[in-house]
Amino acid sequence: MSGALRVRRIDSVIDAVGNTPLLRLRVVTKNAPDVPVYAKLEFENPGGSVKDRAALRMIRDALADGRLGRGKTLIDSTSGNTGVAYSLFGAALGIPVKLVMPENVSRARKDIVRAFGTETIFSDPLEGSDGAIRLAKKIVSEDPDRWFYPDQYANPSNPLAHYDGTGPEILRDVGDTITHFVAGLGTSGTMMGTARRLREHHRPIRCIAVEPDAPLHGLEGLKHMASSLVPMIYDPKGHDEIFPVSTEDGWDMADRLAREEGLHVGHSSGANLFAAVKTAERLQREGTPGCVVAIVADRGDRYFSPLRWEKKYVW
Ligand code: PMP
Repeated sequence: MSGALRVRRIDSVIDAVGNTPLLRLRVVTKNAPDVPVYAKLEFENPGGSVKDRAALRMIRDALADGRLGRGKTLIDSTSGNTGVAYSLFGAALGIPVKLVMPENVSRARKDIVRAFGTETIFSDPLEGSDGAIRLAKKIVSEDPDRWFYPDQYANPSNPLAHYDGTGPEILRDVGDTITHFVAGLGTSGTMMGTARRLREHHRPIRCIAVEPDAPLHGLEGLKHMASSLVPMIYDPKGHDEIFPVSTEDGWDMADRLAREEGLHVGHSSGANLFAAVKTAERLQREGTPGCVVAIVADRGDRYFSPLRWEKKYVW
């Protein structure tokens, strides 16, 4: 422990969003000793993931301009981190939340949103997440005045949360030393918003977008771009390169981070740090100075299942 005692008393769970720490990795980066690699620990948000930022901003902006208000229910089609975030802020702000998810999502995912009082509507498991999106849209179209449908793929508040939060925090913590930024592409909100802010401040920065190397592989959280749906908020010029990572490399890096650094992260974060470490090693070999910042989207605890240790690549 270091430093003087600081007052850290907050009035609402909402005040715990953002201001996440940057952790310098020491062991998995041993082949790049001169190129610092930092992990931005988004699991420190109260809902346990980077999606708290986007969900809160979408809710706040909608409350401010009247799209969300008394008598309205928030509805969306996510069983992942965004669903947890909606549920948490819905509970904190007194907004009812309904989530549409495929019936076959894990017990843990159903339970976590239920804990916050969220109601779940199940869609056909054979139709996957596209089926859940279709069902949510159908429900909204039948009675549009009853619902607030945030549509994180098209909602500018999603990248704005990162433009106003994640980006400035990184600049505050590493300043002009940053040369590379790494984030996965799900809705692309994290990359679009953070990269836009970092580029405004520091032009030569390279923004590296991580994607699964094959569309049907499991890197949870990063699947959307590879499916038929390209998010409206996505702009291919919003990053400088795409770094494909296999599910296996994502998981292996997540395992190494847990065992070697004491950092138990989800596999999309494993994939980001795989790309970050490879980039740092290349800079080291070339003798180019650098500083790499990568997003850690969530903790590994969120992905436990009975098969975790036997057959870890099944998701
Ligand atoms: N990683 C995980 C674990 C996620 O849940 C998400 C969100 N789908 C992402 C990465 C991608 O974030 P974004 O939607 O901002 O692109």
